[in-house]
Amino acid sequence: MIDWTKVDTVLLDMDGTLLDLNFDNHFWKEFVPLKFAKKNGLTIDAAKQQLEPRFKSMEGKLEWYCLDYWSEALELDIAGLKAEIAGLISVLPHVMEFLEKVHQSPKKVYLVTNAHRDSLDLKMEKTCLQGFFDGIISSHDFGYPKEHAEFWRLLQQQQGFEKQTALMIDDSLAVLDSARQFGIAYLLSVSRPDTQQAKKDITRYLAIEDFRELMAGL
Ligand SMILES: [Mg+2]
Repeated sequence: MIDWTKVDTVLLDMDGTLLDLNFDNHFWKEFVPLKFAKKNGLTIDAAKQQLEPRFKSMEGKLEWYCLDYWSEALELDIAGLKAEIAGLISVLPHVMEFLEKVHQSPKKVYLVTNAHRDSLDLKMEKTCLQGFFDGIISSHDFGYPKEHAEFWRLLQQQQGFEKQTALMIDDSLAVLDSARQFGIAYLLSVSRPDTQQAKKDITRYLAIEDFRELMAGL
């Protein structure tokens, strides 16, 4: 699927690529509405109805990933709530084998996420993945999400990688579109970002269901 001899830099998304998106899906679709309902004396259904359009309107924006933003907007301690259900954070199947192998290779490996530093720290603490990366980049450090061209320019300026030999793996098609526009040569999607949901049909990019498909030749 990938000719590894042509890849020097591996850029990996976190949620839905390395980590099971079930945590985030459950958190935003069930746990936050539950807490929001309790706080405001609403039924859970009413809370979901109120929250859904508010979440939708922020998609693709950096604020969507900002725990401080949502803590203020919803008057809930979002970081604290995440910590409450941190037991659900889990690494997707075969990710560890892949990271071990790619870490032993001469390739540079970066975690490149839109997650806020608070989420990122909590997830690294729970999964102990940080040792596998040459660098961990949160788009919040640059002030632009991965969907924005400026993010890629700043990332390249900071890390100095070659676009022609870089591979980006991300479950977000909007992020892959942005990476492609910037000129990242190899792009892969993930068809099973959430183990509790059915496999997604992805046609725009090559997609892996799990990381075993990338082990050959690495
Ligand atoms: Mg993702």
